[in-house]
Amino acid sequence: MRLAVIGSGPGGYVAALKAAQMGAQVTVIEDSEVGGTCLNWGCIPTKTLIASTELLSRVRDLDKFGIDLSGSVLPNMAKIIERKNRVVDIQVKGIRALFKSWGIALKEGRASLSSPREVEVQLKSGGTETIQTDSVILATGSRPAIIPTCRFDGKNIISSNEAINLTEIPRSLVIVGAGVIGCEFACIFRELGTEVTMVEMADRAVSTEDHEVSELLEHEFKKKKIRLLTGAGVDRVEVMDDGVHTFLSDGKEFVAEKVLVSVGRAFNSEGIGLESAGVKKGSRGEITVNTKMETSVPGIYAIGDVTGGMLLAHVASSQGLVAVQNIMGAGEVMDYSVVPSAIFTSPEIASVGLRERQAEEKGLKIKTGHFQFRGLGKAHVMGEITGFIKIIAEEATDRVLGGHIVGPHASDLIHEIVVAMKNGLAVRDIAGAIHAHPTLSEGIREAAEDLHGQAIHTLRK
Ligand SMILES: Cc1cc2nc3c(=O)[nH]c(=O)nc-3n(C[C@H](O)[C@H](O)[C@H](O)COP(=O)(O)OP(=O)(O)OC[C@H]3O[C@@H](n4cnc5c(N)ncnc54)[C@H](O)[C@@H]3O)c2cc1C
Repeated sequence: MRLAVIGSGPGGYVAALKAAQMGAQVTVIEDSEVGGTCLNWGCIPTKTLIASTELLSRVRDLDKFGIDLSGSVLPNMAKIIERKNRVVDIQVKGIRALFKSWGIALKEGRASLSSPREVEVQLKSGGTETIQTDSVILATGSRPAIIPTCRFDGKNIISSNEAINLTEIPRSLVIVGAGVIGCEFACIFRELGTEVTMVEMADRAVSTEDHEVSELLEHEFKKKKIRLLTGAGVDRVEVMDDGVHTFLSDGKEFVAEKVLVSVGRAFNSEGIGLESAGVKKGSRGEITVNTKMETSVPGIYAIGDVTGGMLLAHVASSQGLVAVQNIMGAGEVMDYSVVPSAIFTSPEIASVGLRERQAEEKGLKIKTGHFQFRGLGKAHVMGEITGFIKIIAEEATDRVLGGHIVGPHASDLIHEIVVAMKNGLAVRDIAGAIHAHPTLSEGIREAAEDLHGQAIHTLRK
């Protein structure tokens, strides 16, 4: 089996490795950097910056931990970016080494389909090469979406691609969009000392999360002095002598050194020969696929952001594994019922399954269990007591339907609920398992016990 994979983000590179491990002859074509958005401009760079700002915040709190520090603690942005580049570089080299060890051919250049079984590559080194193949996986990903009212200039009006490389801390920043990416950058820059204003069209920050999660995050933003305007539309953004002016539809105006626009992603489905091969797209420009990750053309598969579903690295990778299983004849389908997501704000957020309001809209009879981190010894030990754990279950069966965590290590803790949901477990199964002490995981058990009115470390209601 010959397989051509276009794009080497977490969708493409994972698919390529799995296919090679299953015996396929694999060629990966990458136009930019190996590792795609995730490694070079997304997950890894932002989380590396967050590691620096979290440390900064901890060091500022040293006094609370009984440690005296003489002298000042200041972020050195050039060094922070240097570290970020080193972390990215290690990951990129790691993928290149994996490709080599599994005999995967990497072609650096821009690929497009010239027919369902032929991929043409404009090589970076010059010239073109045509690759004959039996199957193709399109894993071309996405890029920052542009809105006509806020056009990027790469310097003053920027996207996340530039925000991860700012070697000077902006004095002030307007962030258009209080979704996942916007909120993560708000926390990064606020910790660095930037005056941050966020403008969001929806009625709350991270509006796809459970409403209680948004409420807590907004409360924390207030404490950090991050100004958040919700239900607010941007009329236009203009660069003037005194800074960048953001004009809102209601007449308000803000001036800042820079404006970061994070209003979603556009799909990389143009210029890749979809028309020549007859591959169908949806109304938003996404490549249409079924649950086997098959496009409208037999033998051509699409995975990851370009398919327009959940724009998450782990979803792209899982789709890649499913596509490869189908290419190799195993007949597998994607199951989106249990997909965790994490937001690396301060405090961290993680969720899986149904939000409370979604459950209500579906007319489901549910029960919820809550536990505040402040009720845990470990949270006090760590000095991180803000946040809660919430578990949602079906009333009749006690089956876990969702979990929402805001607080320390939320992105790690969520997986206990993920495994419970994936295996159809009931809340009593979580409550019945002994959890080690003192750990943050005890909070999951307490939330599970609370759902049955039996939490130990909760005041009588
Ligand atoms: C700032 C930011 C933070 C994020 N944080 C997280 C996070 O914490 N957790 C998480 O799960 N997700 C996160 N994401 C989302 C995550 O990065 C994406 O969901 C993921 O990268 C999608 O993977 P992909 O393989 O579909 O595409 P991509 O990673 O976008 O990779 C596609 C690759 O295809 C290449 N390509 C495109 N067209 C061609 C062509 N014609 N020829 C050759 N190559 C081509 C591109 O150069 C690119 O390298 C974040 C995104 C951003 C922007």
